[in-house]
Amino acid sequence: MNRIELSVVIPVYNEESNLGSLIDRCMNVLWNCGVTFELLLVDDGSGDRSAQMIGNAAEHYDEVVGVLLNRNYGQHAAIMAGFEHCRGEIVVTLDADLQNPPEEIPRLVEMINKGHDVVGSVRRNRKDSFFRRLASSAVNWVIRRSTGIGMRDYGCMLRAYRRDIIDAILACREKTTFIPVLANSFASSPAEVEVKHDSRRDGESKYNLFRLITLQFDLITSMTTFPIRMLTFIGIVLAGIGLGLSLLILVLRLVYGPTWAVGGVFTLMAVVLAFMGIQLLSLGLIGEYIGRVFVQVRDRPAFWVKQVVGLNVHKKIKKIGEVV
Ligand code: UDP
Ligand code: MG
Repeated sequence: MNRIELSVVIPVYNEESNLGSLIDRCMNVLWNCGVTFELLLVDDGSGDRSAQMIGNAAEHYDEVVGVLLNRNYGQHAAIMAGFEHCRGEIVVTLDADLQNPPEEIPRLVEMINKGHDVVGSVRRNRKDSFFRRLASSAVNWVIRRSTGIGMRDYGCMLRAYRRDIIDAILACREKTTFIPVLANSFASSPAEVEVKHDSRRDGESKYNLFRLITLQFDLITSMTTFPIRMLTFIGIVLAGIGLGLSLLILVLRLVYGPTWAVGGVFTLMAVVLAFMGIQLLSLGLIGEYIGRVFVQVRDRPAFWVKQVVGLNVHKKIKKIGEVV
């Protein structure tokens, strides 16, 4: 079997009106790239003719591969299914609605060939609603802060990965994930290019407000257990304040006598405050363990070996044997 240099993975969900020109434009670009390639279309349980159209394209073009899921699992799960079936040394993902112009693919590939292992893209003049753009910039800021990787646009799915990154992503068995963040956790030399962004060619966005919020939670939890840590932190602060206040009330009660303490009401308050703090602190501590259980259950590889050099260990041992 021929070695495939480039795989393009596209998740498709009810995109029958875009598929025709998507496939045409992709094939045009890819033929001109001068590399061996495959175009992998993943049908995410579409209810329209998408799956059928993918089937037809796969029959018509040798380079097109269709992966048909039995029902709708969501964009990121669909991309994962694509990763599982792609064979390329370089893998590019993009959206099926032509918001990401396929004509930008060669630029991403070029960056990978320059030695980067993950190439993201920043949407120039992003053509989405104001609300989406605002929410995105907030989320991008949070991710930048928590990962320390200065990528500007995590929402843009026009991205390129080298094979070892794909293998590392595939070794993660977690069920809810956000691929760009996951990929970056294995990247040693990430880069970003500016790309054109169009408005959706046809059909509607598959993300309503509820799905968007779910996606953000997937993103945050796939990245960090920081929210749980916040609980511990708030617990420590409240317990501290509670204990401090109880001490203060106790001292003032001794100094000013029972009338000042309104017959024990203040003392009661102090006790309640201290207990509240301790409760939050314990919750936070339990949270810390749950966070660790979560990380463990997710079972991501703790590291990814790029290469092992000097694998002629056997030869060396033999040599020693000879000497002995
Ligand atoms: N998509 C998918 N499964 C879903 C939702 C979306 O495969 O459950 C695909 C969709 O066909 C498109 C891409 O994911 O190729 C991005 O979806 P969309 O354009 O609706 O998202 P937006 O651009 O509004 O973020
Ligand atoms: Mg879109």
